[in-house]
Amino acid sequence: MTLASAAAASSAASAPAVELSDVRFAYRAGTDVVAIDSLVIPRGETVFLHGPSGSGKTTLLGLLAGVLQADRGAVRILGTDITRLSSGERDAFRAQHLGYVFQQFNLIPYLSVRENILLPVRLDAARRARLGGADPVQAADALARDLDIDGALQSKVTELSVGQQQRVAVARALIASPEVVICDEPTSALDSDRRERFLQLLFKSCTKAGATLVFVSHDLSLQPLFSRAVSLPTVNHASAVAAVEN
Ligand code: ADP
Ligand code: MG
Repeated sequence: MTLASAAAASSAASAPAVELSDVRFAYRAGTDVVAIDSLVIPRGETVFLHGPSGSGKTTLLGLLAGVLQADRGAVRILGTDITRLSSGERDAFRAQHLGYVFQQFNLIPYLSVRENILLPVRLDAARRARLGGADPVQAADALARDLDIDGALQSKVTELSVGQQQRVAVARALIASPEVVICDEPTSALDSDRRERFLQLLFKSCTKAGATLVFVSHDLSLQPLFSRAVSLPTVNHASAVAAVEN
């Protein structure tokens, strides 16, 4: 390793999980949906990102994951400005460092629970390397035990309840301990008792994996459970989105 690359690696190690500066994004030119001057999420936090429907929450998560490309500004994830990467490099960076729980879970219906959890390490060698030589199947099964779905490892995901599917999606996001875990309103289908229990499981799993959690919801009752809250309408001053919280 050269001195310069050693310095870059050590600054990446101490960089915040997420750091946005002067970010603008529009689906249609001239109508910004995201306009954020500054947003910093330190490592190890559990962050509750809230705002009404249409305030740009999912769009912001797309920018953090590098699925969407900012029109300008810097999106630094773990010290890497992903706006400077090629689209192939962004895909590789996401696969290696991020876990993502989608609103609709996006599980693969014809695969078993175990194979769904294994997908990130099956698809990406760098993610698999994060297991440090541990057996992928054992890692998947351990996560399933933590999330109380180990009885269903051989089942098809379509045979599970919504609550169980959600926990499969979380296990898949957490396999091989990505540094950042992003969740887009994954609790909207649950009643309030199950919501709280699910969040406790999610926090426990993220803490065990040392992950920073960015959790999006419009349900303000969840806020006290998190270490930090960010109101999107407060940090996002884009003209095209609602400025009032409901
Ligand atoms: P939230 O997740 O907070 O409900 P979104 O990020 O989904 O908000 O949407 C923010 C704004 O961007 C809304 O006005 C929405 O209509 C618009 N939008 C979202 N996705 C697209 C898209 N693929 N193409 C065009 N406009 C979009
Ligand atoms: Mg959304």
